Amino acid sequence: MIKVLVNGAQGRMGRTVLDAVKNDSELELVGAVDIFSGEVDGVKVETDLSAALDKYKPDVMVDFTRPNAVFQNVMTALEKKVSPVVGTTGLDDVAKEKIRDATEKFQTPAFIAPNFAIGAVLMMLLAKQAAKYMPDVEIIELHHDKKLDAPSGTAELTAKMISEVRNAHKQGHPDEVERLANVRGADYEGIHIHSVRLPGYVAHQEVIFGGLGQTLTIRHDSTGRDSFMPGVLLACKKVRTLSGLTIGLDKLMD
Ligand code: NAP
Repeated sequence: MIKVLVNGAQGRMGRTVLDAVKNDSELELVGAVDIFSGEVDGVKVETDLSAALDKYKPDVMVDFTRPNAVFQNVMTALEKKVSPVVGTTGLDDVAKEKIRDATEKFQTPAFIAPNFAIGAVLMMLLAKQAAKYMPDVEIIELHHDKKLDAPSGTAELTAKMISEVRNAHKQGHPDEVERLANVRGADYEGIHIHSVRLPGYVAHQEVIFGGLGQTLTIRHDSTGRDSFMPGVLLACKKVRTLSGLTIGLDKLMD
């Protein structure tokens, strides 16, 4: 049995993970932590991550907290040789490099996925393939209005993956003028990213390619948080077999 502690246990994702871990025969839920103490589904939620890691000695810490907390949480886990499985978005490249160094220093593997939904991973892989042939592309990501960071980690990773096969270039008319600031969205090496935040959404993304007389749209919709659970559970089971820092669910797929 792989022992799992869930951090951010009272959040939207944390509660869903808690339930999924409890119902998995290969995983044992040993502890739950959040910024406020409480109880979720009969599980006591504690507030001191470091103390809970010492007390329950999990193999894995799943983190679905906040962009401003995740880096310190991951470092605390690695120092105690607990493998982080991270869903919290907002870690920048500098933070990821520091985490990579810490995995080596403490000889403890870590896993980060900006999106744990298999369909979203396929969307990114298909978008990367399409961009070779249709290099003019824009990304629209749509999320619930409680999301703290923008763009989404998925949109950023999609743009990065597309940039690996596409030469950076300016899109749209060379003389275009924004009459409202940022109306054309953020610019990642010429790829425009647009972030929509509205009640009613969970997590959605469209990657739109434009060519002569045609467009191609690749769209993924997470309509419920359970879409992320098979990926989270897989990462909990595999993370201890990895080495260093692994980023992206595609790395765990055949
Ligand atoms: P949420 O409902 O706000 O949950 C976050 C929980 O963590 C809250 O209970 C929060 O408490 C708590 N928290 C904040 N700081 C903490 C700390 N230092 N230690 C322990 N707990 C802390 O957010 P969510 O919708 O579940 O999303 C969580 C994160 O997961 C976001 O970054 C989101 O973008 C990401 N996400 C990733 C995926 C993926 O597939 N990778 C999928 C969905 C969401 P307070 O509310 O009191 O601050």
